[in-house]
Amino acid sequence: MSEDQKKYMRAAIELAKQGMLSGNGGPFGCVIVKDGEIIGQGCNSVLITKDPTAHAEVMAIRDACRNLDHFQLDGCEVYTSCEPCPMCLGAIFWARPSKVYYACSKEDAANAGFDDNFIYQEIEVMPEHRQIPMVSLLREESQKAFNLWKEKGDKTLY
Ligand SMILES: [Zn+2]
Repeated sequence: MSEDQKKYMRAAIELAKQGMLSGNGGPFGCVIVKDGEIIGQGCNSVLITKDPTAHAEVMAIRDACRNLDHFQLDGCEVYTSCEPCPMCLGAIFWARPSKVYYACSKEDAANAGFDDNFIYQEIEVMPEHRQIPMVSLLREESQKAFNLWKEKGDKTLY
């Protein structure tokens, strides 16, 4: 662990503390680093924004992508105060940074009352049998949008 890595992780931890103390949301913070510079940051802001997706990593990804003016985090590293939840894990894979560092584990989060283990379990369950049932409707009609996408000549792949 380098001094720089400690500095970035401490910045994420400080965001976790400050965000929580300001009433933004839970104690989670995240910074995104590119070429030795913090280019995005965020703290959990679920309470203040009334947005259940406003987790620290999602806030930081949005901030970094806005600053980079790009939808991918090429060559970026994510420093998050806690192991990402399944939603943030997905967001991180979509954003494609090169590496993720986390401080607390998801077991630490569960001990503090933030248990996301049930979401991991739900991924394995057939959609219609999930605790929130997921039911497919109008599949063929919706496939037309995919067909248009496949035929679209000037699309930006991501
Ligand atoms: Zn999350």
